[in-house]
Amino acid sequence: MIIGGGFGGLFTALELANDGEVTLVSAEDHFAFRPMLYEYLSGEVEAWHIAPHYRELFDDDNIRFIHGAVSNVDFEAREVSIEGWAKREPYDVLVLAVGGVTNYAGVEGAEEHALPFRGIADADALRNRMIDVLDRTPPDASPDETRAAATFAVVGAGASGCELSTKMGDLLHDAFRRRGLRGEPRVLVVEMGAHIVPGMGDELRAYVEEALREAGVELHTETRVRRVTPEGFVFEQGGEETEVKAAAVVWVGGVQVSPLIERLQIPKDKRGLVSVEPTLQVPGHAEVFSLGDDAHFPDANPQLAGTAQLAFQQASLAAANIRALIRGDELKTKHFEVMGEALSLGTERAAVLTGGKAFGGALARQARFALYTSRLPTWHHRVKVGASWFFEGTAPLPLGLRRP
Ligand SMILES: Cc1cc2nc3c(=O)[nH]c(=O)nc-3n(C[C@H](O)[C@H](O)[C@H](O)COP(=O)(O)OP(=O)(O)OC[C@H]3O[C@@H](n4cnc5c(N)ncnc54)[C@H](O)[C@@H]3O)c2cc1C
Repeated sequence: MIIGGGFGGLFTALELANDGEVTLVSAEDHFAFRPMLYEYLSGEVEAWHIAPHYRELFDDDNIRFIHGAVSNVDFEAREVSIEGWAKREPYDVLVLAVGGVTNYAGVEGAEEHALPFRGIADADALRNRMIDVLDRTPPDASPDETRAAATFAVVGAGASGCELSTKMGDLLHDAFRRRGLRGEPRVLVVEMGAHIVPGMGDELRAYVEEALREAGVELHTETRVRRVTPEGFVFEQGGEETEVKAAAVVWVGGVQVSPLIERLQIPKDKRGLVSVEPTLQVPGHAEVFSLGDDAHFPDANPQLAGTAQLAFQQASLAAANIRALIRGDELKTKHFEVMGEALSLGTERAAVLTGGKAFGGALARQARFALYTSRLPTWHHRVKVGASWFFEGTAPLPLGLRRP
């Protein structure tokens, strides 16, 4: 039984499909290829490309899918409880791969008023918010009025905040042009650290900085968000507080451990992540494995923490070790390294780091699409999506158009 159908859980399930009775339980009915959520926001890709339904993916496979949220695990009885289910589901081998949730870091009002950006529904909500603002802005509004109305803030300038804000900047500028609005939209990124994209090399950072400038994004480093309100937010910079009215504050400031993992009585590190063995087993429970964003794995490049790259690589190890456990073979471990970086920067460019070399621009955007086609689940889905991107193109959908 695999709990969670993300990069860790889904790819483990697919690898084990013909090795036994595999059940995947997941809170959503679809996978989410989160690294392309920015392209979904802009309409460069469609939901079926990056968020295929599990039932469609498992069509040919021997995998049972349960759409439900697991609320608890009884490790002694080897059973899981699923919300709304009277009966508990038994397992022989269990994989915990429930990922994380948005970390609002206890900032006042953030959980209530900020928008998260982790899934398809979040991207739809943000896109609709941008369209609503534009629809309510009359063409004869002054540049000051349009700028005040179309002010959006992104909290966090890691890869996510930079990718999201450049995408929003490009989309809003394009919509201003198409609608003949005067002035400029305003997209702010607020980052409490001194640098953007911490952990990424200087070469890649230079591409990101250039993209932020080109997309007209206003960057505030060493700045802390103190409060989020229904009308905007308050930030503190150099001991001084400033209030900004914003149509939306999008929170990509961090990830914290899932409530399910918090509830379970198993060994964890100081951040609350499951402290797994080098074999991905949970200490004290040889038949329980954990991987991806909910686990702390000892033998990986620290830069990989909390990435799809790590969860994706761990899925192969988890599947191999589960097979070994069932057969009575020796379980293995593996060191994981960074496979490269690929950032989407606005609607026309990207930055890619591969084999130690960074490159940017339109070519990097194409390379990112090609790379991500190869990482999609199942060959059948890869072929369909690859053909769609190749023949139908990946042009963004202007903000005037709502999704059906
Ligand atoms: C917007 C965004 C962009 C990103 N871009 C990149 C990138 O470019 N490169 C990169 O390497 N990483 C990126 N990441 C990080 C990456 O997506 C995660 O590290 C990766 O998804 C972790 O995989 P996972 O399987 O641990 O968790 P997830 O992929 O989050 O999957 C967790 C699954 O568990 C399910 N679930 C949760 N709780 C329960 C429950 N109680 N019961 C049942 N199911 C449950 C969820 O519905 C989900 O299907 C990005 C993340 C986001 C949010």
